[in-house]
Amino acid sequence: MMRLSYQQITDLIELTIFVQDDTLGCDGCLELMDQFAQAELDGTAIPDALEVVRIHLEQCKCCKDEYEALMIALREIQ
Ligand SMILES: [Zn+2]
Repeated sequence: MMRLSYQQITDLIELTIFVQDDTLGCDGCLELMDQFAQAELDGTAIPDALEVVRIHLEQCKCCKDEYEALMIALREIQ
Protein backbone atom coordinates (compact mmCIF):
# COMPACT_ATOMS: atom_id res chain seq x y z
CA MET A 1 0.00 0.00 0.00
CA MET A 2 1.26 3.42 -0.96
CA ARG A 3 2.06 5.79 1.85
CA LEU A 4 0.74 9.27 1.39
CA SER A 5 2.22 12.33 3.03
CA TYR A 6 -0.03 14.65 4.98
CA GLN A 7 0.19 17.17 2.14
CA GLN A 8 -0.82 14.59 -0.45
CA ILE A 9 -3.79 13.58 1.67
CA THR A 10 -5.02 17.14 2.13
CA ASP A 11 -4.55 17.76 -1.61
CA LEU A 12 -6.68 14.71 -2.33
CA ILE A 13 -9.37 15.82 0.10
CA GLU A 14 -9.50 19.29 -1.46
CA LEU A 15 -9.74 17.78 -4.92
CA THR A 16 -12.58 15.51 -3.83
CA ILE A 17 -14.48 18.38 -2.24
CA PHE A 18 -14.00 20.49 -5.35
CA VAL A 19 -15.33 17.75 -7.60
CA GLN A 20 -18.30 17.04 -5.35
CA ASP A 21 -19.16 20.71 -5.07
CA ASP A 22 -19.53 21.32 -8.75
CA THR A 23 -21.56 18.31 -9.78
CA LEU A 24 -23.59 20.25 -12.27
CA GLY A 25 -21.45 20.95 -15.30
CA CYS A 26 -22.27 23.65 -17.84
CA ASP A 27 -25.19 21.81 -19.44
CA GLY A 28 -26.91 21.24 -16.13
CA CYS A 29 -26.20 24.79 -15.09
CA LEU A 30 -27.81 26.22 -18.20
CA GLU A 31 -30.85 24.03 -17.66
CA LEU A 32 -31.44 25.30 -14.14
CA MET A 33 -30.29 28.83 -14.74
CA ASP A 34 -33.78 30.20 -15.53
CA GLN A 35 -35.16 28.92 -12.25
CA PHE A 36 -32.18 30.19 -10.35
CA ALA A 37 -32.39 33.64 -11.92
CA GLN A 38 -36.14 33.80 -11.26
CA ALA A 39 -35.65 32.93 -7.60
CA GLU A 40 -33.00 35.64 -7.32
CA LEU A 41 -35.30 38.20 -8.96
CA ASP A 42 -38.24 37.21 -6.75
CA GLY A 43 -35.99 37.47 -3.72
CA THR A 44 -37.08 34.01 -2.62
CA ALA A 45 -34.73 31.68 -0.82
CA ILE A 46 -32.65 29.60 -3.18
CA PRO A 47 -33.85 25.98 -2.88
CA ASP A 48 -31.22 23.35 -2.13
CA ALA A 49 -31.71 21.96 -5.62
CA LEU A 50 -30.51 25.27 -7.04
CA GLU A 51 -27.56 25.75 -4.70
CA VAL A 52 -25.48 23.75 -7.18
CA VAL A 53 -26.13 26.47 -9.74
CA ARG A 54 -24.65 29.10 -7.44
CA ILE A 55 -21.64 26.89 -6.80
CA HIS A 56 -21.13 26.36 -10.50
CA LEU A 57 -21.50 30.04 -11.31
CA GLU A 58 -18.81 30.90 -8.79
CA GLN A 59 -16.40 28.62 -10.60
CA CYS A 60 -17.35 28.98 -14.23
CA LYS A 61 -16.71 32.22 -16.06
CA CYS A 62 -18.71 31.40 -19.18
CA CYS A 63 -21.84 30.42 -17.24
CA LYS A 64 -21.44 33.49 -15.04
CA ASP A 65 -21.44 35.72 -18.13
CA GLU A 66 -24.47 33.86 -19.42
CA TYR A 67 -26.22 34.31 -16.10
CA GLU A 68 -25.49 38.03 -15.91
CA ALA A 69 -26.87 38.51 -19.42
CA LEU A 70 -30.00 36.58 -18.42
CA MET A 71 -30.48 38.69 -15.30
CA ILE A 72 -30.26 41.88 -17.36
CA ALA A 73 -32.81 40.51 -19.83
CA LEU A 74 -35.19 39.41 -17.05
CA ARG A 75 -34.95 42.77 -15.28
CA GLU A 76 -35.91 44.54 -18.51
CA ILE A 77 -39.01 42.37 -18.91
CA GLN A 78 -40.25 43.07 -15.41
ZN1 LIG B 1 -20.31 26.41 -16.74
